[in-house]
Amino acid sequence: MIVNFFNMNLNFKDNKALIRVDFNVPLDKEYKITDDTRIREAIPTIRHILDQGGAVILMSHLGRPLEKLNSDGSINREKFTLQHLVKHLKKKLKAKVHFADDCVGKQAVKKAAALKPGEVLLLENTRFYQEEEKGDEAFAQKLAALGDIYVNDAFGTAHRAHASTTIVARFFDKQHKTFGFLMEREIENATRAMKEPAKPVTCVTGGSKVSDKIMLLEKFLDYADNILIGGAMAYTFFQAKKGAVGNSLVEPDKLKIAKEFLKKAKAAGVKVVLPKDSVCGDKFAADAATQVCPSNQIPDGWMGLDIGPAAARAFAGVIRKSHTVIWNGPMGVFEMEAFANGTRVVAKACAAATKKGAFTMVGGGDSVAAVNQMKLSKKVSFVSTGGGAMLEFLEGKELPGIKAITE
Ligand code: AMP
Repeated sequence: MIVNFFNMNLNFKDNKALIRVDFNVPLDKEYKITDDTRIREAIPTIRHILDQGGAVILMSHLGRPLEKLNSDGSINREKFTLQHLVKHLKKKLKAKVHFADDCVGKQAVKKAAALKPGEVLLLENTRFYQEEEKGDEAFAQKLAALGDIYVNDAFGTAHRAHASTTIVARFFDKQHKTFGFLMEREIENATRAMKEPAKPVTCVTGGSKVSDKIMLLEKFLDYADNILIGGAMAYTFFQAKKGAVGNSLVEPDKLKIAKEFLKKAKAAGVKVVLPKDSVCGDKFAADAATQVCPSNQIPDGWMGLDIGPAAARAFAGVIRKSHTVIWNGPMGVFEMEAFANGTRVVAKACAAATKKGAFTMVGGGDSVAAVNQMKLSKKVSFVSTGGGAMLEFLEGKELPGIKAITE
């Protein structure tokens, strides 16, 4: 793919950059940010433009306000407003940050027009408008009218053809639209991992469903030497191989696909490693009774909730010997301490491989949360900010948000 990276020739001085960022950060009950990774990752692009003497207009969504309306059908503005982010943003940017309580209405237009170089305007949640997710042209055109240059730095939503992520780019010519630094890094790293990676290449997948990851697994066959499968997905594979998996999470309609995948991997000469043993619980709960069982001999009434110690050792051994590692999805229910060990061991093995010079990338889904939780994000080569977007990129799909800038 030819990518038109951050266009350094663009002159932001005295221009207003309309930047789509992904500020969809988790908030606690008091609306305090519990993980500001996504904001921190967007700072370099914003800072670059402000330092050049430009002004910045930020657009983002936060949560799914139209799916979680108040009982009277109105938008729960208190919960989903981007106003919650203003104070934090001011602190991080050390710049004046204004807020408009709409995106294309009078206030946004007025505040955008009055914006001075070095200042920032944060628009209200783009998903307050149903036009956003519909990719409405008229709405996108109104957004476009607020700025002189469009910058897409929201990798996390690049797989959506929404108004602010994709359609808005139609209203800027090639000289007036670009990726931001974060987007550039995401594309660069994922491309590096997929195209001519240093061998041996190990792909690690986990998480809950085979159905979510089957396309990824198939794509991995193109370049992986080893595929390690953990998480609940593994039990669909064990069931397909006629193992006993007790009450583990299984997708009965995916048994055939799982079997076929194993056959394809064999034909392609790719080694698939399933977890030999599992940490099982008698219920899906943090205080469940636990025992370690062979993953194909899980007793009735018990469910596999993490890869076992032998499997974790085996996975770590393969990872440590790899020169490229791509990891997507946790090995178990890492949110519960009793079932977090497998994910922790894999994360540490990635860190060890990185130290020895391997390129290691964690992207797409909950493995990113796991690596952050384990404070290992700085010890791997790259941690993606894009869950679904990275998953689709790794699956080899063309993301509409990327295409809109490059075409
Ligand atoms: P995904 O979004 O597909 O990456 O799935 C992540 C979720 O899968 C996490 O919330 C994990 O708790 C969950 N998970 C991982 N392993 C298991 C398992 N063995 N049984 C049930 N859920 C699991």
